[in-house]
Order: sequence, then C-alpha cells, then structure tokens
Amino acid sequence: MIYIHFPFCKSFCTYCDFYSVRERGKMEQYKEALLREIDARRAFFMRCAEPATLYIGGGTPSLCPVEWLAEIISAVRNAGGKAGELSELTVEVNPDDVTPEYALGLRGLGVSRVSMGVQSFSDVSLRWMNRRYTAAGAREAYRMLREAGFGNISLDLIFGYDPVPWGASATSGDLLMQQWREDLEQMLLLRPEHISAYQMGVEEGSVLGEKSSAGLYREPSDELCAAQYALLQQMLSEAGYKQYEVSNFALPGRQATHNSGYWERLPYIGLGPGAHSFDGDRSRSWNAPDVDLYIRRWLSGADVSDASCTEMLTDEDVLVEKVMLGLRKTSGLLLSDVPELDQETVCRLLSAGSLIKESGYIRIPAERLFISDSIIRSLLP
Ligand code: SF4
Repeated sequence: MIYIHFPFCKSFCTYCDFYSVRERGKMEQYKEALLREIDARRAFFMRCAEPATLYIGGGTPSLCPVEWLAEIISAVRNAGGKAGELSELTVEVNPDDVTPEYALGLRGLGVSRVSMGVQSFSDVSLRWMNRRYTAAGAREAYRMLREAGFGNISLDLIFGYDPVPWGASATSGDLLMQQWREDLEQMLLLRPEHISAYQMGVEEGSVLGEKSSAGLYREPSDELCAAQYALLQQMLSEAGYKQYEVSNFALPGRQATHNSGYWERLPYIGLGPGAHSFDGDRSRSWNAPDVDLYIRRWLSGADVSDASCTEMLTDEDVLVEKVMLGLRKTSGLLLSDVPELDQETVCRLLSAGSLIKESGYIRIPAERLFISDSIIRSLLP
C-alpha cells in the first residue's frame, strides 16, 4: 500500500485540522521533492511481491495538474518490484476542481477510483463549512466523472453538526434530522459505488474548535448524532449498500481495498509531509508535517534530522491497535489474534449485547457501532 500526501488547499474548511497549507506557489517544488522521495525509497517497492494500492490524498490532490500527477504516478510505477503494477489507484478530488478535461486526464493516467469530498448537498451547510462549491456544482462534478468513464466513485458526507451562524441559537433536532435525510436522499440519487460518512468533530486547531472554545458553537446532542447515524445505516442498507466499517459503506464488491488494508494492519509506505509508514508489525515512522522542511530535505539534500521520526510499538500498543482497528470493521476481530484480551471483559460485553461472537470473531453489532469507541475503550488495558 502506498499513500501520497498532497498537502495544499485553496482554503481551509471550518472543521478541518489536517495538515495542509495554502502556499500553492510551493506546489511545483513539492512535486520535485516528492519524486526524489519516491526514488530514495525504492527499497520498499522492491520488496513488494504483489501489486500495491496507491492512494493520493490530501489536502487537495486535485489542485495538482494532470501532468504532475502523471509524473508522480509514473515514478511509482517505475520504482521497481511488483508494487508499481497497482491493483487500485485512487485520487481524492474536490468538486470545484473537476472539469471534463481533468476527469478524462485522470482516466488517462489509469486512475481506477475517485474519492470526492461532497460533505453535504445543502448550500447553507457548504457555505458554513467554507467549502468552495455548491450542491449543484458537486452534482455536476459527479456527472463529469461518470462521463469520463469512472465506474468506481466514492463520495464523502458529514453528519453531526449544526450549520448556524456563530453565536446564533441552535437549530431544532427535527430540522437537523430533516436536513440529514435530504442529504442522504440526494446522495442515493447519484448512487456512487462507495460512501464514507463521518461525524463532525470539534478539533483543536480548526476554526470550529476556536468558535466552540469562544462559546459561539454548540455541537448537536449525542442522541441527535446517534439518530442521524441510525438513519444513515437504515437508508444505505435499504438502498443495497453494505456497511463494512464504522464510517464506510459500499455496493457489492466495491469496498475500498486501500483503506481496508489499514484496518488489517498491512504494511504501507507514506510519502510526503505528515505521511505515515508502517512495516506491518511494530515499526511506524512518519515525515514531519512541514512542507518547507520536506522540500529542503529532498531538494537541497540537507541533513535535516527532525524531518522524520520512527517508533517501535510495544506489546500493549500492538494490542490497542489490533482491537481498535479490528472492531471498527463489521467483520470484527479474530479472537485468536488477541489472546491477551481480558476474557472477563469480553464475556461481560457479550452478555450486555455490546459484542457478538461468531466463528472465532468478535464484532460490535450494527446498532451499537455508533458507540464503538466506548466499547473498544472498555476492552483496552
Ligand atoms: S477538509 Fe480537506 S479540503 Fe478542507 S481544508 Fe481540510 S484538507 Fe483541505
């Protein structure tokens, strides 16, 4: 699995705390640095005996001209080993970057899957989130992707927020439910192969975090968010989507191979600032989330000691990861893979209906996936 981070955005979304910058004048230098990193890390590619998945995420990779993406993808394909044969190639796009030419350009590069962050089909919500397009624009971008021949499109939606002006009184729960139902209906009219739906969090470092600390924003109640999540599960299931992870749903055979690999703890390499790599066992490393440092390191060959870090996971870290990742999947966690798990707690959760045991796996039942974090926490040391 190969992940490439493209850390540039035109503007910052209200809720976002990801690493990205707005200095688009640095994009070309960044692309050159990335090509150097791909070359320098050939050893990973050479070790791969199977075609890998490549996911280009961000930030906003669709700010990257098709010609640059062509250089990056071809560098990966030519890096050696079987990895470059690429079993799945996903690029994240923002709706307002998609044009018929761009969509055809991506197809021409062999991009097999596009993930588009729509987030909402309400213009009021989109403006509140500081997204750069309208609902009509998002639908139009989707149509262009289909016309270019994409048969595997993933769309993202967000729930669990209240798009009122800062400091205004809260929207009623009934109205928020109605808005969410309309978002889901609009999504289902498009019928993408894959849907990711995330609950909005109030993250430190985001605009929303600041407004919340200043008392200008209040999150909707847990009950409302749980009801929205239940509606999501119900409507998507009725429309033929299978939930395979807490936030992910797919039509038959359309689960994301790349993302599924993270939940299976498969080895991956992350390229670009802030990107993480994992050897599939205990070694985890990451590049510092700093574009300038990254460019200096790879373009001037500077010996920048704080440009990357590595940690070795302890037995406890490994257990925590296996439980957290395994129980997010609807297929669950293979019990024989975690013999250290406290059996008394497992039994208690089984009798409380918070876990189900089947064919050697434990899993969280669909109706409790919304509270998966607290169930997982109670299982951990
Ligand atoms: S949500 Fe995506 S597009 Fe918006 S600021 Fe964050 S990385 Fe950029």
